[in-house]
Amino acid sequence: MDYAPAPMAPLLDYPVQVSELEKIARLSPPPPTVERAPPGLAGADAAVACLVCGSRPARACVVCGGVSYCGEAHQRVDARWHDLVCADLRTIAQDAVFAARGSLVDALIDRIGRARIDDLAGWDDLLEADIVGARRRLLTDLGTRPLTLARALADLDIPARAARSGVISIHVMAADEREQRLPPALWATLARLFPGTRFELALVGPMLDDSRVPESKPADSPLTLRAHTGLYRRSLWRELGRPDLVLGYDCGLTLYPSWKPTILELRGSGVPFVVTSYRSWEAAAEARLLTAVGVTRVLGPAPNPFASLASQRSSTIANDVARDNAWVTVWR
Ligand SMILES: [Zn+2]
Ligand SMILES: [Zn+2]
Repeated sequence: MDYAPAPMAPLLDYPVQVSELEKIARLSPPPPTVERAPPGLAGADAAVACLVCGSRPARACVVCGGVSYCGEAHQRVDARWHDLVCADLRTIAQDAVFAARGSLVDALIDRIGRARIDDLAGWDDLLEADIVGARRRLLTDLGTRPLTLARALADLDIPARAARSGVISIHVMAADEREQRLPPALWATLARLFPGTRFELALVGPMLDDSRVPESKPADSPLTLRAHTGLYRRSLWRELGRPDLVLGYDCGLTLYPSWKPTILELRGSGVPFVVTSYRSWEAAAEARLLTAVGVTRVLGPAPNPFASLASQRSSTIANDVARDNAWVTVWR
């Protein structure tokens, strides 16, 4: 499942979407049952197709605008799944309208710059209560990666152990566009949370474009950022150096067999690694897999206090949403 914002990606055929949603529902805690009338439908629009049968024109759900149907009959067919996500799809639409990302980056850097890591147990310690709605959700979406990382560094006491060299090296495995497009200044806030420390951050992933080197940094920057195209393997340590921490953001350990050699190489390497997941059952399945191959669990799986609060929509299943880094587990 890929929750990268890709609204134009083709949806799966409707029966396939439903069978995927049925699988997810079997694994998820049952939702509260709420009886309510189906929301109304907007006017017919020839540009959109019915989610269920694909016919045009179709009429959008007036609450979220995120799905369309040829009429009330097919809306009722899909109601079991759409009811679960209609409110989330509405916030996704609101977040997309709230596009002032530039000011968000500065606002977030400013707040992290004034924070102390020991005081940061969750978003409420960083974002004032009057930051609400789309602005709050998008700030958490921007900050989830560096702050999840910062929290793990502090929990594992890595800065104290790296104090002699003054450098902390982090490898992000299965890194992709979402890590690469984050402004380097935002990653560099790690050095504000751990004063006196320089950070070397290597993004490694098969989908990464390593020709797109981040802009040259000032010589005194506390952060070195590099990208490497490929699967994460321990042999990379010869080139990148031995890391203090390895991290995989929503890396889908149970989805891709290519993870196996990476996990076996990290097992017993002495380098802790952090894995985040979209859902509780995904985190639990990853924990079973890692435990079965003899990796030692250090923390979690637990809800991540720095999970993104902005929902993202699956690019292939209309009624499926998730939040980045919702669960976190630490291994060694
Ligand atoms: Zn239809
Ligand atoms: Zn809706």
